[in-house]
Amino acid sequence: MTTPPATPTRPQPPEDETSRPFWEATRTRRLLYQWCTVCDRPVFFPRDICPGCLGSTLEWRESSGRGTVYTFSNVHRPQMPNFALPAPYTVALIELAEGVRLMSNVVNCDPEQVRVGMAVKVTWERLDDGRHLPQFEPA
Ligand SMILES: [Zn+2]
Repeated sequence: MTTPPATPTRPQPPEDETSRPFWEATRTRRLLYQWCTVCDRPVFFPRDICPGCLGSTLEWRESSGRGTVYTFSNVHRPQMPNFALPAPYTVALIELAEGVRLMSNVVNCDPEQVRVGMAVKVTWERLDDGRHLPQFEPA
């Protein structure tokens, strides 16, 4: 059994060669997604291959950062100590205006007020290494 750290901190998101452009853009608070130039459709999360046509002609585009709550769950009793401090909090699948969905949190809002279809916009949580984590707040 491992002992939790004295001051639990949120795990830092991993980054690899494929996701690096996404994470580098977060340093300047820009939210990117990929676009398949063959299918003419958005792709998220970052990948090397389009899930629609298996092509590799994916380009990066910038999101408006606006979207809606597609679905959500409020966490009252976190199972990991790293997430104990912000509880209760909202984990949500956000549907961006550009047509992709990403898992995130709804912040700056009482979890009891979050609703499916609620309009949200991106806001940023600074990470220790200068990147930012995209979060969403009521628009
Ligand atoms: Zn494609």
